[in-house]
Amino acid sequence: MNPQDIAVIGAGPAGLAFTAAMQGSGLKITLIERLPRAALADPAFDGREIALTQRSIATLKAVGAWDLLPADDVWPLRAAKVLNGASPLTLTFEPEGGAAGALGALVANHHIRRALFQRVDGADDVTLLTDVAGASAQRTDIGFRVDLGGDDAVEARLLVVADSRFSTFRDQLGVGADMNRLGRSMLVCRMTHDTDHGHVATEWFDHGQTLAVLPLGPGCSSIVVTLAAPEIDRLMAMDEAAFEAEMTRRHKGRLGALKLVSTRHAYPLVTTWSHHFAGPGFALIGDAAVGMHPVTAHGFNLGLLSAAGLARRLRASRDIAALNVLSAYESEHRRAALPLYTATNAIARLYATETTPAKLARHALLQLGRHAYPARRLVSRALTAA
Ligand SMILES: Cc1cc2nc3c(=O)[nH]c(=O)nc-3n(C[C@H](O)[C@H](O)[C@H](O)COP(=O)(O)OP(=O)(O)OC[C@H]3O[C@@H](n4cnc5c(N)ncnc54)[C@H](O)[C@@H]3O)c2cc1C
Repeated sequence: MNPQDIAVIGAGPAGLAFTAAMQGSGLKITLIERLPRAALADPAFDGREIALTQRSIATLKAVGAWDLLPADDVWPLRAAKVLNGASPLTLTFEPEGGAAGALGALVANHHIRRALFQRVDGADDVTLLTDVAGASAQRTDIGFRVDLGGDDAVEARLLVVADSRFSTFRDQLGVGADMNRLGRSMLVCRMTHDTDHGHVATEWFDHGQTLAVLPLGPGCSSIVVTLAAPEIDRLMAMDEAAFEAEMTRRHKGRLGALKLVSTRHAYPLVTTWSHHFAGPGFALIGDAAVGMHPVTAHGFNLGLLSAAGLARRLRASRDIAALNVLSAYESEHRRAALPLYTATNAIARLYATETTPAKLARHALLQLGRHAYPARRLVSRALTAA
């Protein structure tokens, strides 16, 4: 293959969004993915409903993917409520300028993947290599050579790594990462219920469990349960009727009777923070740079920010592999991601701890949040803009 300008590892949402944002720049891009083509062209429902911020919606529009989403399965997120145990206190986040707007939209992850894939598939300046198992990267005089197994290889001036929070390319580049395996898992599925959600998301930090309800269509929500990993394994193994009965009971009647209307999916919770987001001839984007705890729903929003930020800097530069260009991307994204990553981990830790001081701190935080308008406004801004 002719030398390429950019080789992207991983055609997940971040790798695809970056490729879409670089399309038409005059640079030749090869996108390398281990999954088969069919899994990218028609991805299966994976249980994740992505809470997109207004900024992410604008980015998806800018790269031409928003209009490719199925309009009948894109749901407005009007507000978000936080509840703590049996406390009657509620902390509500609404869009700035009143409840008329929306914090963002909820869109299933597989719809986003499909739309972004459609955007890059068949483009003149993009070569897509799928079913690539065991790829590896070596430094060369011009940048990197990615060995694809056998005798095939791709040479490129710049390597963009988007191969998930468990990135093996990050290791090959000698970049370390803090990785925290939390021993808890998250179960996600779609369920119908009797009560109206009013397009308001609820995060309920109950004792021993965290339950989130993400509003989709009428009487239908994404139900998200976070528990110790063995408890989630037990819920996954249950038959449907027993699962529905247990979920109805866990929600203490707040939603009425719950009925399963999708497959169930479980994700072990692992957070990662890469020690570098860029270096000579390479950059990390998406979860390969920052693997967020899903509790604040910022992982893909940050991933999209990294993809768009890197693309913007590369488009404006004469030399895409210049260290000052890549370092500027790294600094900008670290500044954006660090406060969210740190705050999200602190929230996740506080709400997973059942000691008396932790319970008191949760109550105090909720009180503070209710009465401190500036703090609430700050969070609302982060929810819409991150
Ligand atoms: C339950 C749950 C709910 C979530 N909810 C939200 C939310 O509401 N809002 C939000 O913003 N984020 C959310 N997220 C986070 C979001 O899903 C991730 O941040 C996002 O998927 C990361 O995209 P990515 O492309 O970086 O990585 P991935 O989605 O992990 O994609 C990586 C791609 O790289 C490929 N790959 C891996 N290794 C190789 C290799 N060696 N060679 C070639 N290809 C390779 C993989 O096959 C995959 O296609 C949620 C996550 C979970 C688990």
